[in-house]
Amino acid sequence: MSTNAAPTSPPAFPPALAADQIHALRDMAVDWSLAHGLVIRALGSGPDGKSALSHSAVHAPIALFPSPFPKAGFEQARRLQPVFNTLVHEITKDSGFLSEVMDGIGDVDPFTSRLYSIYRRQLAAGLPAQSISLGVHRSDYLLHKASPTTPPTIQQVELNTIASSFGCLSSLTTGLHQYLSSKTDFYNKRDNPSTFDIVPEALPANGAREAIAGGIAEAHREYVKQQAADAEAVVVMVVQPGERNAMDQRWIEYELIERYGIKLFRRTLAEMHQSGSVSSERKLVIQTFNGPRPVSVVYFRAGYGPSDYPTDAEWSARSLIESSIAVKCPTVAQQLAGAKKVQQVLALPGQLERFLPAHDAALLRTCFTGLYSLDAGTAEGDQAFAMALKDPLKYVVKPQREGGGNNVYQADIPQFLQSLAPNERAAYILMELIEPPPMRNVLVRQGEVIQDAEVVSELGIYGIWVANGDHVVKNEAGGHLLRTKVASSHEGGVAAGFAVLDSPLLY
Ligand code: ADP
Ligand code: MG
Ligand code: MG
Repeated sequence: MSTNAAPTSPPAFPPALAADQIHALRDMAVDWSLAHGLVIRALGSGPDGKSALSHSAVHAPIALFPSPFPKAGFEQARRLQPVFNTLVHEITKDSGFLSEVMDGIGDVDPFTSRLYSIYRRQLAAGLPAQSISLGVHRSDYLLHKASPTTPPTIQQVELNTIASSFGCLSSLTTGLHQYLSSKTDFYNKRDNPSTFDIVPEALPANGAREAIAGGIAEAHREYVKQQAADAEAVVVMVVQPGERNAMDQRWIEYELIERYGIKLFRRTLAEMHQSGSVSSERKLVIQTFNGPRPVSVVYFRAGYGPSDYPTDAEWSARSLIESSIAVKCPTVAQQLAGAKKVQQVLALPGQLERFLPAHDAALLRTCFTGLYSLDAGTAEGDQAFAMALKDPLKYVVKPQREGGGNNVYQADIPQFLQSLAPNERAAYILMELIEPPPMRNVLVRQGEVIQDAEVVSELGIYGIWVANGDHVVKNEAGGHLLRTKVASSHEGGVAAGFAVLDSPLLY
């Protein structure tokens, strides 16, 4: 193999350590995490002791070692991100496309249907309500190895356009691994020739926190410029009641006030319903310590699933916010553009070209895997349905949901698909299963070591987009997330309890 060729498999990693060394490393990792705010709320309140305590935290689930990840794939994912950001923007402008895709789902998915009806109402009113757009997206990838002799390439799992979490804790995880590598000689070529030298380039800096806060600050500035009278405007973060992952969110708030002097207030949808209002000039107003304040940006870390809307009050709040001139991150249109059904339609020939120049469309397509409609009564849908029944081990079935734990995998697929009425199949898509090459790592959850586990990692790249109409103010890849899970588990969410926070060690 020439020295310039991409390596086909990672070096041996992590180093073999004795149990006492692992425990010493674990203690260092846990203390660093507690001291630096790499934490989530502890459980212990509520009748079953399973709700988040408001006064107590525990280290976030972490990988003790960074995980080898091919440099070429990492760089490719970063290159794709500005194109994905543009794609989302272009889709949100195309009501014909969104209607085409959503009309089919409307009858069989009440949640998506309700979001879509807010979108249609807004459209009928002749809006969008605000020309400034802010996107904080995250595109997620798994590695795919076509054969033992080819280097692994990235394949997209999904594109998130709402409430992409863990940017701040992920930035800290990179710091944790940098600390552990500089503090120990465990993975040092001098002592351990088969491993990596951890050089700064191998553990790439992770600016997700700065990028997300920077995007919000930029959108806030655009709003203040546009609404010259709103110099006292504040940012609202819409949150879930009892959120465990609150410190990941708080870090954005602190970054905004410390770096930009911008105040951010946390509000649930229920609170927005109770005390938020829209003025005659359609300004969104909330009550603060200093009385009423106009809202420049609403950043959603809730609102992505049915359980965020237990009553009509939450839906009213969402509609109220959507109808205001506050910058929404995301708008309902941006949220719909991140639907799995949209991802599937975009994979059809010619669809990306509706929104992007041919070379950009071709670039994005390099990371697509097989995506199929399951719509009954269409040739493609019936064919995919038959394919899934015949070869279920090759596939995953996905509903229009976010947040992990919603998919149906492999052997469970036939029974699941056969339990659906034909018209209900439109609410789901079929996707080829990506099977990344397994690696080994040591995972730590609540202080407990899961030793030498066989794991796979999912890379997320944050995408930051700020524009006023079609004038692009910011379009960039902003930091990353690596989540690592035990290979035998299908799902990959950290908050959903399947994965731990990790960082890529580039080779
Ligand atoms: P969600 O929006 O709920 O996060 P995802 O599409 O990301 O939905 O699926 C959740 C998890 O399921 C992913 O993090 C990944 O671990 C796994 N997964 C999803 N799609 C695939 C796929 N095509 N191949 C392998 N694993 C997948
Ligand atoms: Mg998602
Ligand atoms: Mg996901």
